[in-house]
Amino acid sequence: MIYQLARRGPAGRPGPERHENPFDDVVEQIDQAARVLGLDPREVEVLKHPRRQVIVSIPIVMDDGQTRIFTGYRVLHDTTRGPGKGGIRYHPGVNLDEVKALAAWMSWKCALVDVAFGGAKGGVTCDPGTMSEGELERLTRRYVAEIFDLIGPTLDIPAPDVGTDARVMAWVMDTYSMKKGYVEPGVVTGKPLLLGGSRGREAATGRGLLIVTREALRHLGRSLNGARVVVQGFGNVGSNAARLLAAAGAQVVAVSDVRGGISCPDGVDVARLLRFRQETGSVVGFPRTEPLTNDELLTMPCDVLLPAALEGQINEGNADRIRAGLIVEGANGPTTSEADEILVRRGIPVVPDIMANAGGVVVSYFEWVQDRYGYFWPEDEVNARLEEKMVGAYDALRVGAERFNLGNDFRTAAYAVAMERILEARRLRGLYA
Ligand code: GLU
Repeated sequence: MIYQLARRGPAGRPGPERHENPFDDVVEQIDQAARVLGLDPREVEVLKHPRRQVIVSIPIVMDDGQTRIFTGYRVLHDTTRGPGKGGIRYHPGVNLDEVKALAAWMSWKCALVDVAFGGAKGGVTCDPGTMSEGELERLTRRYVAEIFDLIGPTLDIPAPDVGTDARVMAWVMDTYSMKKGYVEPGVVTGKPLLLGGSRGREAATGRGLLIVTREALRHLGRSLNGARVVVQGFGNVGSNAARLLAAAGAQVVAVSDVRGGISCPDGVDVARLLRFRQETGSVVGFPRTEPLTNDELLTMPCDVLLPAALEGQINEGNADRIRAGLIVEGANGPTTSEADEILVRRGIPVVPDIMANAGGVVVSYFEWVQDRYGYFWPEDEVNARLEEKMVGAYDALRVGAERFNLGNDFRTAAYAVAMERILEARRLRGLYA
């Protein structure tokens, strides 16, 4: 399911083989960064082993009175630089290897943007689109009860991810607080504003993408103004990025969601598209646009391709046909290692996920700080601090790519910079035995 779109392949041709295990990509990426850092593979071995991996069974009474058992996960990858941090994913494709990969990516992401967190991730294998509000609430509460001892504001702090939102985070906060016997907003981020959420958190990943796209284009000597942008995925990340990019002068020429894609060479009116999607549930059928398939969308010529759906979308089956001037990864892991090699060879620069989509966790960090202080900042301040963090991290990445002589291979540079920080922190702490 995770790589379903990729697996289906272009019309009339069999899809590429599914990259079965996204954690294999993580291991490959660790080895590659170790080579760049001139480290012995043994020195990075520890990063290939998450600190803790937990699988729980979640029995739920469904609305029809039947009890169904769901499987949930929480993986704590690394806590050298602070408590674990990472979202909770509700999706039919969730499995342990995916959660392990996502947890490791959170470790690198937090190190790269320099927030004092380690990496974690959680998920439940379920299809939230087919579940009622009551079923989702019962699922969330029981999942939190099962991992109660493993999460906490100084231990591991969940947040939204694919298939979860502020409403789900409110149930996480309530379940945890009720079991503790006092209100603990800092146990989870991405909460509604009224429960200790941060202003700007909901749009933060999209805003971060805007900042990074602008910086990357500037770095490449191009401009955001008039840039033709293609957005795959129209969830929280894709829709906010599209809205903010259009407002900043870019032309959003194609957009897709799980039901299909639309294109409009003169640029889509994103504000109207958002209203249309709200009314109809999809971007498909938006007036004055042409329908297009996922494969057509990913391979159409554009200045910026922004994959903001799931993992493995850019893969061996399409990487040699991508015609984007720049790829900015809104999703986590949208490009397989095989595709990455092809893109590097073809000279198509990629701003990797751990840099591009880090705006969400940066504002999660701000939310956690505000919760712990009990003092909340205005939105302007959140956005200004986000801008500073993202520009600072992008600079560190750019300098890293030069320092390690990596040309346009920003992914390896991002991993190297992040891993260097984590390994240095590990050296300073030493090994507890
Ligand atoms: N799920 C988001 C991510 O992958 C946010 C995580 C967080 O805010 O902790 O970055």
